[in-house]
Amino acid sequence: MSLRFRLLGSGSEGNATLVEGGGARVLLDAGLGPKQLAERLLSAGVDPASLDAVFVSHEHGDHARGAAPFSRRWGVPLFGTQGTFVAAGFEQVRMPAYERMTAGETRTIRRMIVKTIAVPHDAAAPVAFVVSTATASFGHATDLGHLSRALVSALRGCDAVLVESNYDPAMLRDGSYPWSLKERILGPFGHLSNGDVGRLLEKGLGPSCRTVVLAHLSRKNNHPELALMASEEALARGRRGDVRVRLAEPDGTGWISVEPTGTPAALQGQLRLF
Ligand SMILES: [Zn+2]
Ligand SMILES: [Zn+2]
Repeated sequence: MSLRFRLLGSGSEGNATLVEGGGARVLLDAGLGPKQLAERLLSAGVDPASLDAVFVSHEHGDHARGAAPFSRRWGVPLFGTQGTFVAAGFEQVRMPAYERMTAGETRTIRRMIVKTIAVPHDAAAPVAFVVSTATASFGHATDLGHLSRALVSALRGCDAVLVESNYDPAMLRDGSYPWSLKERILGPFGHLSNGDVGRLLEKGLGPSCRTVVLAHLSRKNNHPELALMASEEALARGRRGDVRVRLAEPDGTGWISVEPTGTPAALQGQLRLF
């Protein structure tokens, strides 16, 4: 089974990404209600009971809302940090299993390896993920205030990268949010702006990356065209015409294949420190 993924939801209404590869099938986040999650899995042709695991990035409702009830209903174990376990209130609810991970650790599910990477966000112990099979690698980073070196280094090895492109700074500043919330989003533990993503795409992608998915766009503080334009301009500046950018709609995407491309020798010489 080659590596592929499909978003079932993206943004403040709820996030969930289905990933298949190495004989395994997992969800990254379960921020939709359990019924909606099951419906969207079924419409993707996937039996919810066939999932091997749900990895929860952090406790915020748009990522964790459906995790416990979904896990209980379909008998699927949850994986995440101890901080997420406590902050999400999972101690108080019944579920088949919660496998505690420390940021930086990996878990192998059949022949799929899922690595967690700590990210700066205003949650207890939030993480991003890199999912790898023998042939390809997919990075998944939503909800982070800035790009840490550890994350950029982890994403550099990926053939496909999903990253949040949450807000346009001018729209956020001029928008209707209270100032305290604007400060939180703009701060180092808030969310990534279109410009932050641009910096990643211009200098931080690895040579084998061919696919970027922009996710978790704010409905109020961003516009899909602005996010797309910022990313495409950044890729042009970085001479990465080989990378295709896709936008995740709030109700998700179709299947996206992660094709292993190897590392062309010519590009390796052009790598710079981010
Ligand atoms: Zn979120
Ligand atoms: Zn969050």
